[in-house]
Amino acid sequence: MSTIHTYDELKPLDMHNLQFDIAAERLNIQPWILEKIKHPRREFVVRFPMRYDDGRVELLTGYRVQHNTLRGPAKGGIRYHPQVDLDEVRALAALMTWKCAVANIPFGGAKGGVQCDPTSMSPQEVERLTRRYIWEISPFIGPDQDIPAPDVNTNPQVMAWIVDTYSVFRGHTCNSVVTGKPLELGGTLGRLTATAQGLAYVLEEAAKIRKISLSDATAAIQGFGNVGSNAAYILENDLGVKVIAVSDVHGGIYNPRGLSIRAVKDWVNRTGSVINYPDADTITNEELLVLPCDILVPAALENQITKKNAEKVQARIILEGANGPTTPFADEILEGNGILVIPDILANAGGVTVSYFEWVQNIQKLFWTESDVKAKLRMVMTKAFYDVYDLASREKVSMRTAAYMLAIERVAEAKILRGIFP
Ligand code: NAD
Repeated sequence: MSTIHTYDELKPLDMHNLQFDIAAERLNIQPWILEKIKHPRREFVVRFPMRYDDGRVELLTGYRVQHNTLRGPAKGGIRYHPQVDLDEVRALAALMTWKCAVANIPFGGAKGGVQCDPTSMSPQEVERLTRRYIWEISPFIGPDQDIPAPDVNTNPQVMAWIVDTYSVFRGHTCNSVVTGKPLELGGTLGRLTATAQGLAYVLEEAAKIRKISLSDATAAIQGFGNVGSNAAYILENDLGVKVIAVSDVHGGIYNPRGLSIRAVKDWVNRTGSVINYPDADTITNEELLVLPCDILVPAALENQITKKNAEKVQARIILEGANGPTTPFADEILEGNGILVIPDILANAGGVTVSYFEWVQNIQKLFWTESDVKAKLRMVMTKAFYDVYDLASREKVSMRTAAYMLAIERVAEAKILRGIFP
């Protein structure tokens, strides 16, 4: 990491660029190809007025970045969050390119977002925001062009509004423009839990390698949204892991004897947060990350494990549900301490993999059973895990560097084969 001092640990795009350079240094790829695939292919910034229920009007900014389309249409979620900015979207779009390449599915990478606070909006306001943002980017998305999906603070209902808005714009119903849709609109069985299920499949393989018995293991999980809550449930109920701590944006809860995730989910449905759950102690998000446990699952936002706290992490495996939760600076410390980090672009690829299955089913107009979806997902995740693990072992690098090496090679190969236009 010779140029490490020029990167800012708090900036996801800097962390992506640093990690790209660490992997690229080990590959024999022409510099112009590396330069091309490191940066986004194209970026859209849209500004539009948003009318709130009380009549107030505010100007919002939205983004859609198509990082790469060499291996197929751009693919990636849409995030509504106050922290969304162009650099964050660029970093997340790049991660999608590498993730699709690691999973070896025929998509490129994209990401979108609107800088806003949807938690203070009514459903009607979120609908108006979604329809206007999608109308703004409609010319640039489509089933063969760029296919959005849910991310932080967006869900199947938001995807349904996207289907409707895009279909009105095109003049015919087009449900393959997004994935993560409700079943009634062409969604797939298994999509809601796909990212968490994929995490569980790679965890099973990692546990074998690290000789950890999952039924005797403990886990702490940061974030209790789509990824975190479903991961907590699957780890507890399917793998027999004792989940000792979970958290959300308001704080965390901890019970060393284990939490009943079903009961915590009920509590969240009633109160809106995990905090004040009766059968646990209160902890902060920072405390959760450094609890004594076997498996730590960051499943909230970027830059949670940094050089500030990495030394204090006690888990044996970090399973990255979130995108970009660990910085390369932290990676060095964790690796030195013998902690196995299963990187985002491998660990949480289950979501985009089942999105790919959804897109295939939409195009074929033929739907699969949930057990078909799960069996195919397990195959993809297990193959990706061993592709990365074998490369990491051969090259004596971390799983993250190996995953980037594999992905960069696959995308670079597509560029070499396609050549230069004109
Ligand atoms: P979500 O909106 O469903 O849930 C996010 C969770 O994180 C919520 O519990 C929220 O309270 C919590 N949170 C937000 N800010 C926080 C903070 N500062 N500290 C602690 N907790 C905080 O989102 P999601 O879809 O579960 O996504 C979570 C992460 O997983 C993101 O990094 C996302 O990019 C990544 N991811 C999601 C998918 C997917 O299929 N949804 C797929 C791959 C990766």
